[in-house]
Amino acid sequence: MKNIVIVGGGAGGLELATYLGDKLGRKQKANVVLVDRNQTHLWKPLLHEVATGVLDAETDAVSFRAHAFNHHFNFEQGSIARIDRVNKYVELEPVYGAEGDVIVVARRIPYDYLVLSIGSKSNDFNTKGVAENCIFLDAPDQALRFQHKMLELFLKFSENNALTEIGEDESKQVLVQEDKVNIAIVGGGATGVELSAELFNAAKHLSSYGYGKIRSDCLQVTLVEAGPRLLPALPERISDSVEKELVELGVNVKTNTMITEATANSLITKDGGEIKADLMVWAAGVRVSTITQKFDGLELNRINQLCVKDSLQTTLDDSIFAIGDCAFLLQKDGKPVPPRGQAATQMATVCGQNIVALLEGKTELKAFEFRDKGSLVSLSKFTALGSISTGKKSSLTIEGRFARLAYISLYRLHQQRLHGCFKTGLIILIGRLNRFIRPSLKLY
Ligand SMILES: Cc1cc2nc3c(=O)[nH]c(=O)nc-3n(C[C@H](O)[C@H](O)[C@H](O)COP(=O)(O)OP(=O)(O)OC[C@H]3O[C@@H](n4cnc5c(N)ncnc54)[C@H](O)[C@@H]3O)c2cc1C
Repeated sequence: MKNIVIVGGGAGGLELATYLGDKLGRKQKANVVLVDRNQTHLWKPLLHEVATGVLDAETDAVSFRAHAFNHHFNFEQGSIARIDRVNKYVELEPVYGAEGDVIVVARRIPYDYLVLSIGSKSNDFNTKGVAENCIFLDAPDQALRFQHKMLELFLKFSENNALTEIGEDESKQVLVQEDKVNIAIVGGGATGVELSAELFNAAKHLSSYGYGKIRSDCLQVTLVEAGPRLLPALPERISDSVEKELVELGVNVKTNTMITEATANSLITKDGGEIKADLMVWAAGVRVSTITQKFDGLELNRINQLCVKDSLQTTLDDSIFAIGDCAFLLQKDGKPVPPRGQAATQMATVCGQNIVALLEGKTELKAFEFRDKGSLVSLSKFTALGSISTGKKSSLTIEGRFARLAYISLYRLHQQRLHGCFKTGLIILIGRLNRFIRPSLKLY
């Protein structure tokens, strides 16, 4: 029986493992193995909601082990350490426990076909002080770290204000004079824009949960973008509308502003300016982990993406595929396939079909072509904006409730591909019931 190994259970990898498990694993036509460094999967575009507590990561996360059991594939936890292309195996790092002890030793997993879908992360372009002083929003643990820090800041702010009114402690009255919670976000792409709006929604809810002195005007959010406009990948009219909405919410938008350094409590701009902040997020740029340099000489581009052919096989090895953010493929118009959720899931579909074709002995493989269905950004509960594709070259700009529904449908489609229609319907129902049972914000 052939071994198909998929490394990375994100938007693309988990959909692929589910498809191949159901199609091949169920009838024991192949042994499908999914490897991920984490134990659970969370749809990455929701990370800004985890960061503000609007979404409880534990409720929405999918357990890899349980999902593997239900869809006839195997799950191995571990980070990929290297690939041996001659002997056809991937080597995994050991898994360490909370105390630093080795729980699972380093292992080798043999493959006949290997799919790499390890995603991407923010690119700090080696900017001084960013790694030490800014939070990235690339994984659930980082989003949770942001959430804890944000709650600490709001609690500190709320308590200090309360004490001033009572007049109990003079030393604390000094702190009140700062009178705002300052959060700075670098990167005017979808993550930065959506996080900025979500913070105002969180501040609104916190005032109902005992953070008595918090109002949205206690929050100062600065959104910094090096380019001339927000959302450079979207049409200009959408960028303009989004900027207008954010400014109305209270966001301080700074375009054409290049950050050259991050200190413990400020961002330094190229022209020598300083943006003070209690909490800083770096959400600019995209790159792939340097681990791809240990993939036995596979061709990489300058941001460590794996170069693939239109069959999604890597350029130097037909038995290794790459999909999603970690894959580099030029489209017919000469532009690379963008690192987006819809590209990852479309690649998963074509890659799955091509692997099945190879197992059936076919030599002609399907060529991947990215179909851009549009781009939408959600400004929390306030509104959503974007454009959806209506034909080969035309698109429709949408806004408000309809845009919000279209935005949510991207996640619902992902859930449907993982769980099927019936179970997704139940998940939606439980989500609605939880709105009555649970607080609107995760508060710990
Ligand atoms: C905050 C945020 C908001 C976004 N919003 C949108 C949006 O609105 N619309 C949109 O289209 N896209 C959006 N994106 C982009 C989208 O999330 C990605 O394009 C998509 O998730 C890429 O899918 P992927 O399968 O390539 O990788 P991911 O979904 O990133 O999955 C990678 C997986 O690989 C695992 N992994 C990583 N390294 C290793 C390793 N060394 N060993 C083992 N496992 C590893 C990770 O744990 C993870 O499970 C957003 C991204 C972020 C961060």
